Amino acid sequence: MGNHKKYDVLIIGAGIGGLTAGALLARKGWKVLLLEKEKQVGGYVVSFRRGEYTFDATGAFIGGCEKGGEFDRILKEMDAREAIEFIPVRTIHNIYPGFEICLKTGGFASYADRLLHLFPEEEKGLKDYLSLVKKIGDEVNAYSRITPVRKILFPIFFRNLIRYHRTTHQSILDHLFEGREIKMALHTLPVTDPPSRLSFLFVATLISKALREGVFYPKGGMGKISEAMAHSILRSGGEILLRTEVDQILIKDGRAEGVLTKDGQIFQSPLIITNINPNHLVQMLPQESRNPVARKMERFEYSLSCFILYLTTDLNLRERGLPYFTYLRSLSDLEEEYQIMQRGEIPKNPTLIVSIPTLMDPSLAPEGQHIVKVLVVAPYHYQERWGAGDSKTYRRIKEEFSRKILQQLESKLIPGLRDHLLFSEAATPLTLERYTGNEQGAMYGLASTPGQIGNFRPPHQASIPGLFQVGHYTRPSHGIVGASLSGLFAARAILQKSKHQISSTK
Ligand SMILES: Cc1cc2nc3c(=O)[nH]c(=O)nc-3n(C[C@H](O)[C@H](O)[C@H](O)COP(=O)(O)OP(=O)(O)OC[C@H]3O[C@@H](n4cnc5c(N)ncnc54)[C@H](O)[C@@H]3O)c2cc1C
Repeated sequence: MGNHKKYDVLIIGAGIGGLTAGALLARKGWKVLLLEKEKQVGGYVVSFRRGEYTFDATGAFIGGCEKGGEFDRILKEMDAREAIEFIPVRTIHNIYPGFEICLKTGGFASYADRLLHLFPEEEKGLKDYLSLVKKIGDEVNAYSRITPVRKILFPIFFRNLIRYHRTTHQSILDHLFEGREIKMALHTLPVTDPPSRLSFLFVATLISKALREGVFYPKGGMGKISEAMAHSILRSGGEILLRTEVDQILIKDGRAEGVLTKDGQIFQSPLIITNINPNHLVQMLPQESRNPVARKMERFEYSLSCFILYLTTDLNLRERGLPYFTYLRSLSDLEEEYQIMQRGEIPKNPTLIVSIPTLMDPSLAPEGQHIVKVLVVAPYHYQERWGAGDSKTYRRIKEEFSRKILQQLESKLIPGLRDHLLFSEAATPLTLERYTGNEQGAMYGLASTPGQIGNFRPPHQASIPGLFQVGHYTRPSHGIVGASLSGLFAARAILQKSKHQISSTK
């Protein structure tokens, strides 16, 4: 290759995975270049402004931020922890057909008490369930700090991870419980899959983390997380090019050697980390290098996407005592919603996941006003792919759907909302796909089915030497912490491999 700019590592995509890997390698003195196609960093984890409002594009909270937690440690390692103020989310309100539960996050015992109070006849099953969840949570925590001795004695120290690695949430629920309501109450985390598809290990890890360690909201909005990571990269001398879409990965003698961007720039490096949809990665490779990478992805299934409604109102939602986060389920059959979506449809009364960020940080909107974000899991192929390219039809479908959700929200959670609506905008699976390149707007990358969690997910080192993958299509899992851990693991693997070999390019 000619005389092009050279780096120690090139990163394609500034999602949380790419930002984490970039920040950690830059802190070690590596010459990092991060290429991002959008005008801002963060992928799904961005905030956007409309007038005086700051909206979170997607997520609502994040775990692992408590002192010594997984995310706290990663942020400290990249010297970005001080830049973010995390506010604990105290309660999560779950509303089901016929009953409600207010969960105190960071309070495992109160969760157990509340469920026991509601379902005294299920006491034995509940105790077994919660004890199992706790053991699995402990094993997962121990796994993240695994020692060589424990690695050798894996079956002894991690017996539950081994025992339940192929188990769905459904089989545990059916084994331990009789009633439909308690099964519903135990399957309420913001996930897109029904219990028959979801990995029990995954559910147990999430419940254990959320309830024991708590979940948090970053002051200033979710985008603050990505901004802090980007500043860390820049402070360490790394570079970030926004509005720069990578078109091709250049391979020489079977090794990664650089990238070509859509606007014709070439950057060189013996190491490339991709933080993008693996199907797009395959398309970026020369024809002869595609097969091994494509074959590895064939067996994986993607998560569902969603519809998001961004609203503002001058109703005093604080005075009404609403919590920051509400999960509002109308259907009592846990499988039904998923089956309907598989047909490309949306149920009449879908589950609504409602967050009100201004209750956590009033500065996100003018005084006396609130932001309400409503998330509804939705299929990519709704109404034949949301109007099949016809913008008028797309707008009509979006508006109809928004109206339906608003009506449901008003009747079940916020009476009088429509008369006090100041602003409304919506995002569909197509919006998510367009902004981030995620496969059909997949919320979580790969679905968290039993064969697709932890080490069953694609590894960080791709089959092409010099090519690494991070983000929610890789190990260990989806979510902000999952994607960040993928960046940490990839950075560690790279550092380990290239000990003392840093830069002939500096
Ligand atoms: C609606 C919704 C709600 C969620 N809620 C939560 C939550 O509350 N808590 C939580 O922990 N997680 C949540 N998640 C999941 C979490 O946000 C994701 O799992 C995680 O952020 C994925 O990060 P990633 O590293 O895989 O990158 P992504 O976010 O997928 O970003 C990939 C980046 O690569 C860029 N890119 C793609 N192609 C190219 C190219 N050719 N050249 C240059 N750049 C390119 C994209 O523009 C994008 O910036 C939610 C997700 C969604 C969609």
